[in-house]
This record gives sequence, C-alpha cells and structure tokens, in this order.
Amino acid sequence: MPSDVPTEQRATTTTSVLPEMMAGAPVRPMVRTAPETPLIDVMGGSSRWQIPVHEHGFVALCDAMPRLVPEGKTADFAIVQAARVSYGDGTKHVNEDRGLVRYLLRHRHTTPLEMVEFKFHIAMPIFIARQWIRHRTANVNECSARYSIMPDRFYRPSISSVRKQSKSNRQGSDGTIDVGTAEQFLELLADAEAHYAKYLKLIEQGVARELARAALPVSLYTEWYWKCDLHNIFHFLSLRMDDHAQLEIQDFARAMFALIKPIVPIACEAFEDYRLKSMHLTALEVEALRSGQPLATENSRERAEWEAKRSQLGL
Ligand SMILES: Cc1cc2nc3c(=O)[nH]c(=O)nc-3n(C[C@H](O)[C@H](O)[C@H](O)COP(=O)(O)OP(=O)(O)OC[C@H]3O[C@@H](n4cnc5c(N)ncnc54)[C@H](O)[C@@H]3O)c2cc1C
Repeated sequence: MPSDVPTEQRATTTTSVLPEMMAGAPVRPMVRTAPETPLIDVMGGSSRWQIPVHEHGFVALCDAMPRLVPEGKTADFAIVQAARVSYGDGTKHVNEDRGLVRYLLRHRHTTPLEMVEFKFHIAMPIFIARQWIRHRTANVNECSARYSIMPDRFYRPSISSVRKQSKSNRQGSDGTIDVGTAEQFLELLADAEAHYAKYLKLIEQGVARELARAALPVSLYTEWYWKCDLHNIFHFLSLRMDDHAQLEIQDFARAMFALIKPIVPIACEAFEDYRLKSMHLTALEVEALRSGQPLATENSRERAEWEAKRSQLGL
C-alpha cells in the first residue's frame, strides 16, 4: 500500500481484507437438546447456603457447576459423565456410578473431578486470608481496601480459646493458656482495634484509603469470592482440615466441606475414605512395618512421625 494513503483510508482497506482472510465454513445452526429426564437444582432453588464461622466470619456457597442434574442424581453425575468419555467401554466393569467415583479417587485420576466447580463468598480475618490465598488454583476476587472503607469487624477469640505456643511444633499451638495471660492478650487485640477510629478520622481528613489501611491489624476481616474445581478444593481441604493447619482456618475448611457434601456426597465420601482419613507411609515406614525393626533413620522428627502413625494404627 502506498505510504501517502491517509491513515483513515488505510485502516478501512485493512478491515475490508479481514473477512476474506478469515473465511471458513459458516457457523451452522445450533441444535438444542432437551434433557432425557427432568433436571433438578443441586442447591434446591436456594440462592445461597451459608455457614457462620466465629463471630463475624462465614463461608457461603453461591453457585455450583453443574447446577442442574438429572432427577435422582447428585452433581457427582458430572464426574461420572466426564470419566466415561475417557474410559468408554472400559468402565463396564465398574459400571456403577459410586464405584467409578471411588475408583477415580483411589487411583488419583483427578481430571473428572475438575468438571465440578463451586463458587463461595467468604468473610475471614486477614491472617487467615493470607494462608488461604496460597492456594493458587482458585479464581479470587477480594474486596478492595483502596476503594472502600473497611468495615469495623475484627477476629477476637474467647478467653477460653486463647492457645499456648506448642513446644513440639514451632508452627502450632497446644492447649489453652492461663486466664490472666489470655486477658492480657485480648487487651492487646483491643488496643490494635482502637486504631480503627483513628483510621476513619484520618480518611475523613483526606488521607488516601490505600494508605490509611496500613494501620489496621491482620485481625480485620476481609471478604472474597472464591471459585475452584472439586479436585483443587479437595487438595485445599486435605491441607486445611488437617491437624497441622491453624485451628481458625480448619474451622473455615470444615464449613466448606459441610456445604459441598450434600451436592457431591459420593465424591466427598470417597475423599474421606481415600484421602482425608487415609495414611501415607514412606518407604522406610513400609520396611519398618514389614521387618518389625525400628525406622532406619537417625532423624528424630521422622521417627516421631512414625511413632504417631504407629499409635494411630494401634501398634
Ligand atoms: C500446615 C501448613 C503449613 C504451612 N507453612 C508455610 C510456611 O511456613 N511458609 C510458607 O510460605 N507457606 C506455608 N504453607 C503453604 C504451603 O507451602 C503451600 O503454599 C500451600 O499449602 C498451598 O499448597 P499448594 O501449592 O499445594 O496448593 P495450590 O496452590 O492450590 O496448588 C495445587 C497444586 O497445583 C500445582 N501447582 C499450582 N501452582 C503451581 C505452579 N506454579 N507450579 C507447579 N505446580 C503448581 C501443585 O501440584 C499444587 O500442589 C503451609 C501450608 C500448610 C498446610
């Protein structure tokens, strides 16, 4: 094209060439298929199922995929449907839906579980949100403390639930602390919450919300929408319902599990049987079990872990 053609004319010419370049088969009419059996809503027509957690927190289920399933089925149906695409006739020997879902969970054939998705609305303290956000496979949209003034909601445990630092686990807690010390700790939290009034005042005086928030403690609540597929939700739950996770996030994870259980009961049962309540044994542990000899390692932590498993097994 000559370079002296005015810009507007060049743009018009380019556009007119595009349809030719993209020419292919025309889109054919859509076919709409009616369901073979009537469909039911897995949430029973509700817009939201919500479980309160602590004083100000909650986990709310807002949507599910599939939302509609054939009458008499649960959303486990979508897992089975996907698995049958990959196995085809091979599923004839596990032709029962429950057996197939349990087989998939046992053998870590995980992609059919990704066909089920859940969308949650969650309110939790920022120190819990920081742990939660490490789970990278979810889609997240969080409230913005740059855009909005954060509501006056803080996490405060009761006196009887202020926990002591664990001596054996540097990351964990172990039992409750004496009342006097618990009271001092709650006073400290109250002092931190007192910053909220100053935060509001300084925003009124014109300080940007994005800066003013820097004075608020991590006990402040935040909220987000969190959408994730069932495979990755199970991964999240296996880590966050575990005893090693902080108690507060365990409370949220258990609420989440309670919300999805009625929707995918078969997958949740298999998850409990083959993952949550199951036990992983290392090669050294298998050998110790087989030979009846002590664990072949000098590592004291590994030995302690083996002892914990032995006692769980009643050995
Ligand atoms: C009890 C406990 C203590 C913890 N302590 C600490 C700590 O002290 N410090 C700290 O920083 N973190 C800590 N964490 C966080 C932990 O290290 C993980 O970041 C968190 O549990 C998320 O796990 P994940 O990466 O498996 O999950 P997700 O991010 O949900 O990912 C799920 C899976 O997808 C795959 N995946 C996702 N993204 C990628 C990627 N980019 N590359 C490759 N594979 C990917 C992996 O297989 C992963 O397991 C702790 C977690 C727990 C449960």
